[in-house]
Amino acid sequence: AKADGKGTFRRFDPMLDARVQARRSLEADLRRAITVQEFELHYQPLVDARTGRITAAEALVRWRHPERGLVPPADFIPLAEETGLIGPLGQWVLRTACTQAARWPSHIRVAVNLSPAQFRDLRLAETVKAALTASGLAADRLELEITEGVLLADEERTLATLTRLRAAGVSISMDDFGTGYSSLSYLRRFPFDKIKVDRSFVRQLPGDPESAAIVRAIITMGACLGMTITVEGVETAEQFAFTAASGCDQVQGYHVSRPLPEAEFLSFVDAREAA
Ligand code: C2E
Ligand code: CA
Ligand code: CA
Ligand code: CA
Repeated sequence: AKADGKGTFRRFDPMLDARVQARRSLEADLRRAITVQEFELHYQPLVDARTGRITAAEALVRWRHPERGLVPPADFIPLAEETGLIGPLGQWVLRTACTQAARWPSHIRVAVNLSPAQFRDLRLAETVKAALTASGLAADRLELEITEGVLLADEERTLATLTRLRAAGVSISMDDFGTGYSSLSYLRRFPFDKIKVDRSFVRQLPGDPESAAIVRAIITMGACLGMTITVEGVETAEQFAFTAASGCDQVQGYHVSRPLPEAEFLSFVDAREAA
């Protein structure tokens, strides 16, 4: 047992120690990866539910690790948020997505995910404007996706940041809609351009009547509020047919395409447009 400095004794926990060690080494590895830019963006198409045309792509970060291969964001974004490394990483994602999208056909927009920590940075609007200027991407081709976690912070500050971003011409999407505690009240208070219906509502479509009713209701409500509605996580032809018939604007999911490296994404766009 070791003294913990407060006069009590705690048994040494080898499991805990191993976890702390693993976390420290992952953090050091992530720090290194950011300096050598060991990341890449994959792009998942969003298609117009009526025409099937590709209208946008969501940028999804991956870590090309020298030993571990392609590491998904769930394995490093949380740590990046806790350690503040999300600042430089998020900056890289934003700049890279804007630079790449500036070379795409001009009707295709790009969506970038922002974490709560990035959103709390008062310089966010300036960072976004700088990325647009440096890349030459028109502001109306950039969408920023935020989750409810962003909105839990200081409300006035959040509203000010959202307003500045929209004044710059960028659009804002509420991601993972329906999974939080108070999604509905946020819609009234914050200016969103788009709602992304979380894939948990899609999983049991079209067979489950409750899921079907919820998806239809969100689509109707969003339309009444003047927001564009994207349904995420559409994996099957049946789910695609159901969501398109429910009147949503855009569909995203494995049924259309998995996230792809940029070159493959652009080939996918070419093949679709030629068809
Ligand atoms: P998200 O923003 O909700 O992104 C959608 C996730 O769902 C992606 O996982 C995508 O590959 C996956 N997905 C898309 N279609 C389907 C489908 O039909 N079925 C299923 N089962 N999954 C589908 P991914 O790429 O692993 O990203 C996971 C999360 O990591 C994202 O969730 C987002 O929250 C976060 N993330 C990814 N890239 C970034 C980034 O650059 N910055 C920040 N802050 N977070 C990011
Ligand atoms: Ca997203
Ligand atoms: Ca989502
Ligand atoms: Ca999610």
